[in-house]
This record gives sequence, C-alpha cells and structure tokens, in this order.
Amino acid sequence: MGVDKKILVIPGDGIGQEVTAWGQKVLQTIAENYKHNFVFEEGIMGHVAIEATGNPLPDETLEKARKSDAILFGAIGHAKYDNDPTLKVRPEQGLLKIRKELGLYANLRPIKLFDELLEASSIKPEILRGADILFFRELTGDVYFGEKKRSEDRNTASDLMIYHRYEVERIARKAYEAARSRRKKLCSVDKANVLESSRLWREVVQELAKEYSDVETEHMFIDNAAMQLVKDPKRFDVVLTANLFGDILTDEASQIAGSMGMLASASVGDSTGFYEPIHGSAHDIAGKGIANPLASILSAALMLDISFGLKTESLRVIKAVEATLKQGFRTMDIANKHTENHLVMGTDAMGAKVLENLN
Ligand code: NAD
Repeated sequence: MGVDKKILVIPGDGIGQEVTAWGQKVLQTIAENYKHNFVFEEGIMGHVAIEATGNPLPDETLEKARKSDAILFGAIGHAKYDNDPTLKVRPEQGLLKIRKELGLYANLRPIKLFDELLEASSIKPEILRGADILFFRELTGDVYFGEKKRSEDRNTASDLMIYHRYEVERIARKAYEAARSRRKKLCSVDKANVLESSRLWREVVQELAKEYSDVETEHMFIDNAAMQLVKDPKRFDVVLTANLFGDILTDEASQIAGSMGMLASASVGDSTGFYEPIHGSAHDIAGKGIANPLASILSAALMLDISFGLKTESLRVIKAVEATLKQGFRTMDIANKHTENHLVMGTDAMGAKVLENLN
C-alpha cells in the first residue's frame, strides 16, 4: 500500500533553485514507481522572499511548512548580504527562524564516500575507503542563539554559549538510537576541559551512556576530533556534537565525501523534517547550470528514510546515484582530472541520468 505525503519544496536562492528541482523530480519518480501519493507545494525563503515580501521567511511559507509532512530545501544567500554585514534583514534569518519554529533540534549528516569518488577527495584513498560516519549536530542552542552583546564603544563583543540539560538529552537520545542500528559506537565531541557548557554536555551524555550500555561511548575534545577526522575517519561511527563544533566538523568532513555537492542533511525534531544539501547558494556558479544536483537528490533519499520510513525507496535512490557515478558521469566539482573516462556534464543532464537509473 502506498503512502500519502505532503511535501513542501523551498528552492531558495542561487543554485538552490537549480538543484532542488532534481530532488523533487526524484521524489516524484519514486512516488510513481512505488505507487505512493506525494503532493508538492512550493514556498519562498531567503533573498527571493525578501525581494518579494520584505521578510526572509514569510508567514505563508511557515504555515505551509507546519502543514507538510516533510520539507525539501535548497539554499539561501546572495552576494549583496555577504558584502554588507550591516544589512538588518538577511536571508539566513529565514533559515534560523524555520529551524526554531519547527523545533528542528537535530541535524543529521551522513558522510559516506561512494567508491567511485575516492580519487576526488583531497585525502588519500587508503585512509578514506570504508569511512561511514553519521553526524548529529545540535541545531537550536549554543552561541547561535545565546545573548549577543557589543560594548558602547563598539570595541568589545561577546556571544553567550548556552545549553540546557533537556537540549543535550533529546539529541543524545536520537544519536544513541541511531548508533544502535549502526555499528554501536558513539563519539561525543566537546571542549569540557575549558567550557562549562561542555561540562554539562558531557555529564548528560555520561548519564545516558548507562542507559545505552550496548553502545560504546567515547568522549573526545573538539581539537582532537578535528585532527582524527582526517587522520583516521574510519574510527568514527556516530558523532554527537554541539551546534558550533558541528558546523565546523561537518564542513571538514565534507572533504571525505569529495565535494560539498555530494552531501545531504536532515534536520529533525519532534514533527516535520527538513531536508537540504549542506552547501549554500554558491554565487560563483549560480545560473551557469553546472551545480551538482546529487546532494539535493541524496537529501530526498534521506527524507524517504527518516520522515517516511521508506527504506527500500531511499536505498533505491542511493543506488541510482551510485550507478550514475559508476557509468562515469560527473559534474565539474567531482570530475577527476587524472582519469579520462569521465563524462563531465551540467546539472540537468546529471539529474536526468539519475532519473534514468531509477527506472
Ligand atoms: P557554498 O556552499 O555556497 O559554496 C562553497 C563552494 O562550493 C563554492 O565554490 C561553490 O561553487 C561550491 N559548491 C557548493 N555547492 C556546490 C554544488 N552543488 N555543485 C558544485 N559546486 C558547489 O558556500 P559559500 O560560497 O561560503 O556561500 C555562498 C552563499 O551561500 C552565502 O550567501 C552563504 O551565506 C550561503 N550559505 C547558505 C547555506 C544554506 O542555505 N544552508 C549554507 C552555507 C552558505
């Protein structure tokens, strides 16, 4: 029996618009092939929303988001704001607000390298082969939401790094549950030798570790974790960390997957899930039709698995991406200069190849 789901698509800005079209087409094809009924709606957010309404997250988009079963998002951002930090209304406010409003407190980022892309990474293939990490980055606390201050003379500034026990506990539980269905290893990353908020973090994880005694728990300082990630990525299974540390570590980890254009992420809480590539709106290539659509397509695969529980369908999408890479098709960002048997193509041609491999 097929499932009925309502999906809100928010392409956003720049290459977000180009790649999200392919994530959506993949979901539509899966619905047709497996007799599901996916109803799509569209919403605006980011620079396009500011231009249209003056608001980076219009109420209408938020309402649609609340009524949907899952959201497929592209990216937000425009050079105008990057070059002028004083602009008060900014695209990223839309993203921060939707995360907060939907209670999306856990950001999941699977880092798994397709064998075909071993050579595309800047890390040696023998170090990378077999690496398979699932990051859990906390998303609604930390310095991002703590009080921000600037002294009257404007020469001193501070950002409050703040965590509450319940915030650590709810994401740690999700990470432990995920570890149980994987290799049963959890590494919690903090800076408990310096930060009080990290000491609370570690205390809470240590308490939960007793409940999840079937999972092996390790605690690691962020500086060491940043080093181990490139030295020996295979040692990690589930990595649990706070908002700021997770932001940095997962970008570092994107090198393991060869390109930002390959990495998908899921933000989940207790209701609607939000699925997006980890990359931004990439002004440097926006409008050129050369962006890699695979991260959006893999975000759609995550949605099928995590929000809808459709594991077979999710795996089908991942296999179609794998088959496309095996056939030698590449977008520019993952093309390997050393081998000549790769056919380098643009966004639409690459997306179309994945669809062919789905059928
Ligand atoms: P970016 O992720 O947009 O791009 C970084 C580099 O990776 C660029 O060289 C880009 O061309 C390349 N790249 C990214 N995605 C790619 C893809 N799918 N295919 C091929 N190459 C790809 O980061 P940035 O340049 O630091 O930021 C650009 C804008 O995006 C900024 O306005 C920033 O605020 C915004 N941003 C948004 C998000 C988001 O919406 N979640 C995340 C990060 C940055």
